[in-house]
Amino acid sequence: IRSKAIKLEKMEVVSQLAASISHEIRNPLTVVKGFMQLMRGKDISEETKEQYMNIALEELDRACAIIDDYLTFAKPFPEKTEPLHVHHELQKVIDMLRPFANIHGVKIVPTLMPATIKGNGQYFRQCFLNIIKNGIEAIEGDGAVYVAVYVAEKTVTIVVRDEGKGMTKEQLARYGEPYFSTKEKGTGLGAMVSIRIIEMMDGTWTMESEKGRGTTMKVTFHLLLEK
Ligand code: ADP
Ligand code: MG
Repeated sequence: IRSKAIKLEKMEVVSQLAASISHEIRNPLTVVKGFMQLMRGKDISEETKEQYMNIALEELDRACAIIDDYLTFAKPFPEKTEPLHVHHELQKVIDMLRPFANIHGVKIVPTLMPATIKGNGQYFRQCFLNIIKNGIEAIEGDGAVYVAVYVAEKTVTIVVRDEGKGMTKEQLARYGEPYFSTKEKGTGLGAMVSIRIIEMMDGTWTMESEKGRGTTMKVTFHLLLEK
């Protein structure tokens, strides 16, 4: 009974996530539609048209940012829960983020150890994409984001540490709250998605941050003991 209850809860997390994705993407698209309809009006000036166009373009950017936070790795037929090689999955995420890091003048430094857990690869990659990306975005000037894997007897811990600007206590307390963002074009959804995925995979997390020094995120999962 217990395991059934837990399973149901996890299904709920997954369907909640799916429901919020469509909701989040529909919002900016509805705004774009509205402004396109307004632009059809006969007696609107070029200037107003230009304004509407800019709003529509910004909303489309927002829709893209939301897709990045939720669906970067989505496939038409989602992978199931399976053994996940944490080091391989993290390597994929790091390779994918390298160009983004380069643009920001940030180095990604991996220290990866082989470890296997049970989970869904797409979700796992999305989770760490959002966390590492936030680390990169937190760095002003140059600096590094360190990604390390620590294997214990029954658990594996993934540590993402950045040399970024850090967070205040208040900001830290709001980490993962939907729409909380300190960025000009932030969605405030990436952290929420990461946390939901960690919970879905039966993991735990802690975050420490110091203003002006950096942030460390630790995520722990059960090790899959392969026979
Ligand atoms: P977004 O990145 O779109 O702003 P997120 O949900 O990914 O939204 O993150 C929410 C907020 O948490 C960010 O705007 C930022 O203020 C803070 N944050 C998250 N990760 C870090 C980090 N590594 N360093 C500093 N601040 C962070
Ligand atoms: Mg983010």
